[in-house]
Amino acid sequence: MQKALKENLTRQIQFMLKSCVNCGLCAEACHYCFENDDSAVIPANKIHTLSTFLNRYFHPVKSRLAGFGRSNIPDDQALTELYQAAFQNCSICGKCALTCPMGINTGEILYLARAT
Ligand code: SF4
Ligand code: SF4
Repeated sequence: MQKALKENLTRQIQFMLKSCVNCGLCAEACHYCFENDDSAVIPANKIHTLSTFLNRYFHPVKSRLAGFGRSNIPDDQALTELYQAAFQNCSICGKCALTCPMGINTGEILYLARAT
């Protein structure tokens, strides 16, 4: 995972991970949101899942704080949530990027999650 992150976690993706303003417009573009009432399929929430994962296990400072678990080995629940966001709940189509006022491309971000 560390190797994949080093190769794929670009500054552009880091910027997008921190740019969401929670407007919810991406939900109107994502076909998973039309078929599923689960808030986990909303593009912004899938980004949040990856962002939380990275902060908890790979952030140079936050991963060492008690509140984030003090572990660099992801547990089963964290891996399952990441797997569902990246593989089960996103087809990397990029439609949500067309509606996002911040230019966030959830598909591109979740492609990183697939790479890890
Ligand atoms: S459209 Fe963009 S800024 Fe708005 S909630 Fe979705 S990802 Fe966040
Ligand atoms: S890239 Fe993923 S999150 Fe965005 S609209 Fe397509 S399926 Fe939904």
